[in-house]
Amino acid sequence: MSVNFDNPYSFFSTIREVLAKYGLPPLHQLQETIPLKTSWKFVVTKKVNNHWYNTLLDDAESKTTLKYMDTKHFVIGINHPVWNIHDKTKVHIRKAIIKARILSGTFILDSDRAKFNQSPTSLCQLCRLSDEDITHFHLDCPLSAKSRTTYFGPIKEGIIQNTVAKTWPGLFNNKLDIIRLIIDCRHFTQLFTDTNLMETIEASTRKLCYRLHIKCLKMLKVVDGLKKTLLDQQIKAKDICLSIVLSSVDPKCVAKANRGNCQFYRCFEQQRQCGKSGYLIGYGYKYCNRFKSFYSSFTTAGKKWIDCVRPCLTKALIGKYQESLGPGQKCNQLKTYAFDTHVKCYLDCGFCDVYTSNISALRKVLSFSDLLSTDALKQIIKVGKECIFG
Ligand SMILES: [Zn+2]
Repeated sequence: MSVNFDNPYSFFSTIREVLAKYGLPPLHQLQETIPLKTSWKFVVTKKVNNHWYNTLLDDAESKTTLKYMDTKHFVIGINHPVWNIHDKTKVHIRKAIIKARILSGTFILDSDRAKFNQSPTSLCQLCRLSDEDITHFHLDCPLSAKSRTTYFGPIKEGIIQNTVAKTWPGLFNNKLDIIRLIIDCRHFTQLFTDTNLMETIEASTRKLCYRLHIKCLKMLKVVDGLKKTLLDQQIKAKDICLSIVLSSVDPKCVAKANRGNCQFYRCFEQQRQCGKSGYLIGYGYKYCNRFKSFYSSFTTAGKKWIDCVRPCLTKALIGKYQESLGPGQKCNQLKTYAFDTHVKCYLDCGFCDVYTSNISALRKVLSFSDLLSTDALKQIIKVGKECIFG
């Protein structure tokens, strides 16, 4: 021992530390008076238990999660009554686990989740009337009222019958004490001198906590199911609405096309939604209006040609409008198709007879620099050349 005195890792140094840690007599004292085995065992057990009891107590006092646990009756080496399960079936073990989690503050409620940003709200997801904290869960949530009446009623009745008069109204007239009774009835050890009553209360509160937990889970499942059904219905309704919108072929819009009304392009656009630079708004609607604006610049024959071309072009698109495609669908295809109809309408309406006499008016209408108007101008010039040169 004297050889290894300075070595902190030696056996004797460790023994010296252990003795000091638990407040046991130092080595030299034990060497002088060697204690009897039985009395030494007794002293060691007492000192070790005492050390851990005080450590546990200090730890528990600093932890807010243990505020509902009775720490006065900690006994080292003896389980908390929550684990006194006579019937060791799965369901009874589960009840003890739930109660132990509530007791140790590890049973997470929505108010706890919200604190750690794991839930967007601290509100009870069932009733949404107030925060889901330990009081709300055990005593207040109206949606668990039936389970509470069923399982808490007998606990209250048992206390009233087995304690002196006025114990219940005198002691349990506030929520905090009722919560303490439910979570750890050892708070009232002095009151419940009958150990059978303590055991009954412990077992009953285990059952109550478990039932509240299960009830909550079941209702949340129902709520989730309802939310899902509602969401499905909303999606379905949205689809139906969308399909109604998409499939709607407005006869008024068709009538506008038959009359060569420029507004046809707008109602067609409402259905197809090819955008501002799409054919319907970017070309059809724009040039329909520009031909109207520069109408007076055309010769009489040119005006007749416009009166003929306008309905020819809109009528040619009725079939496309009646296809009822979804927003943004086949916009390029629509543009190509529409441009192809131009040539036929121009020629059928006698373009070759009016082209040369109305060329300056045509230029006024087509004096745009965007892509579609350039295409249109090239197309008209090409058709005009064919009129002239065959
Ligand atoms: Zn609630």
